[in-house]
Amino acid sequence: MLKNLCVFGAILTVIGIFSIHLVAEDKRATTATTQSGLGIYRIRAQEASIRSMKKRADEVLKMNNISARVHVEAVMQLADRLAKEGQSKEAVKYYKAGLKHFPLDLKRQLALGRMLMKMGKKKEAMERAKIVTKMAEEDNLVVPARKMLGKKVDTKIKAIGKLDGKAPIIILVPMGKVDVLLVRDVRKKLQKQLGISVLIRSVPLTMPSYGRDPFHDFCQALRKQLKNLKATCSPDQYEAMLKQAKVREADLKRDEKIVQLFQRLLDQSGDEKVSRSFAATVAKARTEERQWNSLALLKVLRKATKAHKQNNVRFIGVTRCDIYSKNTSFLLANGYLGEIMVMSYRRFMSSFTHETVNRNRLLKRMVNQALSSCGKVFGIDGCTDPSCPRAYPHSVAEHDAKSDKLCNKCRKAFDKVFGRK
Ligand SMILES: [Zn+2]
Repeated sequence: MLKNLCVFGAILTVIGIFSIHLVAEDKRATTATTQSGLGIYRIRAQEASIRSMKKRADEVLKMNNISARVHVEAVMQLADRLAKEGQSKEAVKYYKAGLKHFPLDLKRQLALGRMLMKMGKKKEAMERAKIVTKMAEEDNLVVPARKMLGKKVDTKIKAIGKLDGKAPIIILVPMGKVDVLLVRDVRKKLQKQLGISVLIRSVPLTMPSYGRDPFHDFCQALRKQLKNLKATCSPDQYEAMLKQAKVREADLKRDEKIVQLFQRLLDQSGDEKVSRSFAATVAKARTEERQWNSLALLKVLRKATKAHKQNNVRFIGVTRCDIYSKNTSFLLANGYLGEIMVMSYRRFMSSFTHETVNRNRLLKRMVNQALSSCGKVFGIDGCTDPSCPRAYPHSVAEHDAKSDKLCNKCRKAFDKVFGRK
């Protein structure tokens, strides 16, 4: 009993530490539960029969609008299942019914488009594809939607060739996973705003491995608590505790095993509330995304672009990976004034912020961030006008409050570095 009390103390401390971390991450943490909830829903849905899924979906569709919106995933799951089983007509019926409650489910808009195309209803299918190309943020939805519209889609990036460094030029270099169509839209807008050539080019580089893994950090905190616990127990007590949880000391190096140890001891303790709370904390930790060290990215980019260095040419690495540096919890961009930058758009995406999907909002955020980075690579320091895209934002909300037009001071500074009067 004594050993369990010790474990309780240790676990409560861990839950406490991790809760603080999650609160600091605010919105993401609160919505993480909903996401994992959906995950469970998905697994259950696969196991359920079409008949029982239909029963549930019909129940949802009879609910009032507010409740139906909350449970609409059940309708969409059924439509997906019907589509998979080749029951096109029924699938279309349920997609349409579900989309009435959640029209911004762009994945299902696309799925409905596919079904309609299959049934020969080309005009109706194309209407769905248009919605997706206009609203979706990610290439995995935009690319098939554009193809459905009969447009040529090329997501290949040209390799960097010989550069004529006479006129100033900015090269955006995709690093790791990138939504190419999105970056292309950013490029166009940047070129228009700056009045110089902006290109997207690939250079041979290997993306460094991630630097932070929140789930692993959580497990490290557990190990620290276990170490403290070990110091308060006799060796026999400690041994008995591991035996009780059926976990070997040598296995505790593995993240899954350390979690298993704490979970099993709590399950056996009989205190359901603490046991459930720990399980929920573990589930949240699993949803946290990995992060990449911006300094490692800069090092790789600098090395890869060295051979192409010219007086008027500047490189900006663009990545979808979340980045940080040293003690910061995250960064939107980082680099060296007058030289090189990397920027990440992960925190601007609705799949990260859990806002409603909005391609134009994402583009505005990315262009403003890129304008700031473009100034930096040409040696123009930050701006003090809060409405200017180049002003330092403390949050995404501050980013959104900015205009999409450069202030006079920044415009003049760009004219000067680009040799314009
Ligand atoms: Zn400015």
